[in-house]
Amino acid sequence: MSKPAWSNALGRSAMPVFFRSRLGGIVTRLSAFKSTNRIFRMATALPSLRFVTATAFGLMHVACLAVFFTGVDWLALTLCGVVYFLQMVGITAGYHRYFSHRAFKTSRVFQFALAWLGCTASQRGPIWWAAQHRHHHRTSDTPEDLHSPVARSLWQSHVGWVFSSESDGTDEHVVKDLLRYPELRWLDYFYWVPPLALAGLCYLLDGWAGLIWGFFISSVLSHHATFMVNSVCHLWGRRPYATADASRNNFFVALVTLGEGWHNNHHHHQSSARQGFRWWQMDVSYYLIRLMAFVRLVYDVRKAPMAKLLAGRPTEAGTMESSKTV
Ligand SMILES: [Zn+2]
Ligand SMILES: [Zn+2]
Repeated sequence: MSKPAWSNALGRSAMPVFFRSRLGGIVTRLSAFKSTNRIFRMATALPSLRFVTATAFGLMHVACLAVFFTGVDWLALTLCGVVYFLQMVGITAGYHRYFSHRAFKTSRVFQFALAWLGCTASQRGPIWWAAQHRHHHRTSDTPEDLHSPVARSLWQSHVGWVFSSESDGTDEHVVKDLLRYPELRWLDYFYWVPPLALAGLCYLLDGWAGLIWGFFISSVLSHHATFMVNSVCHLWGRRPYATADASRNNFFVALVTLGEGWHNNHHHHQSSARQGFRWWQMDVSYYLIRLMAFVRLVYDVRKAPMAKLLAGRPTEAGTMESSKTV
């Protein structure tokens, strides 16, 4: 696609010498202003994005205490349940299985809908989330793994990483497939818009009780449910596959995260849209993906070679032999 005329008009080669020298002067004066002006120095010394998100994360917990003033009603409780469910779908089917692992395909419009839904869980944008998660898989339970309770600590893996400088940026080299969508880049930058819209909707539907239960309590619950995949699922549970990391299957986490608790299965075969390999391993996110495929919202759902995965021989430690199937 050719560049629009206005962009060329601002290009250096197309710019007359007179304007170039004027522009150069303005840039020089601005640089001098930057280094001498006290207000500018204060503005550029504003807290990092990490500090802002970590403060917001803490304040969301404090806001839940307002429940003692607002009380509770049936609509507020219903809002809490529905929002929690939708936030988890956005994170598990959207941020995790679609954006991080590309476990299925979809249209550009529904891709944006999934990104928006994931954003409502207040866990920053889809590109940042996918970059962080891909880093977890590349460095699982090594000192480089920001989310490892084995190589670091339980606190660090659960919430400590929120306050860590290592969680600040986005490694763009690992999310090139997502960066080519301007609408995703926009949402990744303005990741606070969907949660704010959700909070406003909850307030409109049921006043202060709706806001506290429907937004703050549901968000804090979905945060800790998601974070348990990092912490609990690398410490407690069964290891049917002898993967190189400490990932484990945990029934309770699978229950509250719509299937993400089958984490050892997932580390063994990361690209599979299905994480509950056995019939009794409840995986609500996968059932929803199948439903979305049935109504043609998504397609090319990637499946694990189930017969191969279930036919492994137990090792001495009681786990199955783990041949990399990713
Ligand atoms: Zn993991
Ligand atoms: Zn994953």
